[in-house]
Amino acid sequence: MALTHRQTKQRRALLDLLRSTKSHPTAAWLYDGLRKNHPEMSQGTVYRNLSVLAEQGLVQVLRSGSAQDRFDADTSLHYHVACTRCGRVDDLPLPPETERNKAAEALSGYRITGHRIDYYGICPECLSASGSSGS
Ligand code: ZN
Ligand code: MN
Repeated sequence: MALTHRQTKQRRALLDLLRSTKSHPTAAWLYDGLRKNHPEMSQGTVYRNLSVLAEQGLVQVLRSGSAQDRFDADTSLHYHVACTRCGRVDDLPLPPETERNKAAEALSGYRITGHRIDYYGICPECLSASGSSGS
């Protein structure tokens, strides 16, 4: 199925917007940001394009059990830390623990292609907003 010029432009704009931020936005945030220049774009189009970009390996989806999916144009192996109060998600520059993949392979018999570790806690802004870090 050939893409129309408009579809290509819309997907490009979505990827550009995602690449312009380090905030790991939700689909709703991306839709909001695109509406100014692409008022014809529907929310469904944004969701569809995000899954296409994920299939193409151009974005990674950060799934958390409870909160909404978030999206990251940085597809390298890196960890994230999420604030359980405000939902903010930041990169966590810990070295990737690739030796875990080998250990998991030996234990499971799977060929391991990746793993996920999700860190969570209270972010610095929420900590200072709550006065002391004690309570
Ligand atoms: Zn927070
Ligand atoms: Mn990231």
